[in-house]
Amino acid sequence: MDTELALAWIRETAAAVERQESYLTELDSAIGDGDHGSNLRRGFTAVITALDTLEPDSIGAVLAKTGTTLISKVGGASGPLYGSAFRAMGKALPQATATPAELAAALAEGLLAIQQLGGAAPGDKTIVDAWAPATAAFEAAAADGLPSAADAADAAAAQGARDTVPLQARKGRASYLGPRSTGHQDPGATSTALLFHTLAQVTHAA
Ligand code: ADP
Ligand code: MG
Repeated sequence: MDTELALAWIRETAAAVERQESYLTELDSAIGDGDHGSNLRRGFTAVITALDTLEPDSIGAVLAKTGTTLISKVGGASGPLYGSAFRAMGKALPQATATPAELAAALAEGLLAIQQLGGAAPGDKTIVDAWAPATAAFEAAAADGLPSAADAADAAAAQGARDTVPLQARKGRASYLGPRSTGHQDPGATSTALLFHTLAQVTHAA
């Protein structure tokens, strides 16, 4: 990965969030307060504006600006969680180019930041349920090169998001529903799957 690819990843994510806004909101209407799509769209719109004036010279600069902007612009739980993850990844990648192994380590730092802030474990029906398997799959395939690692992470995140359907939420707003949170796909795990999908997309386009 290089600075251009990091920029492409964030831009593609912003576009995907815009396309999927109503779907994410629909999922959040079932087990939350129906704002996940609009939260992320507002956040990523602000990220694009911030990046337009940045002229970043490293991967870290792109990811850190993304994280800081999400934290400041998104009121919901997902803003600080994703924001912290991007900041942690940015801190882990201060350079202009990174190997797949370095990107794997940065994704693990992102996961750690999410878990430190939110206290969620795998199985709690959160972002972690897509991010953790995606990180593991990326790490396992890192030696095969970036496109292969990103594809493996994409597939694992999508599967992780689908696997949240039968789970009962133990963190976040959905946990207030208790057993009634089962039978629905988690919005945050779904947006995480979207993040890993756009990573795979830009990797193939590069
Ligand atoms: P809010 O719940 O404040 O309305 P959003 O709707 O933007 O925020 O985001 C909801 C998503 O945030 C949930 O679907 C879940 O995946 C994720 N989430 C909530 N709490 C946590 C947590 N403690 N750790 C990880 N992810 C969480
Ligand atoms: Mg919500």
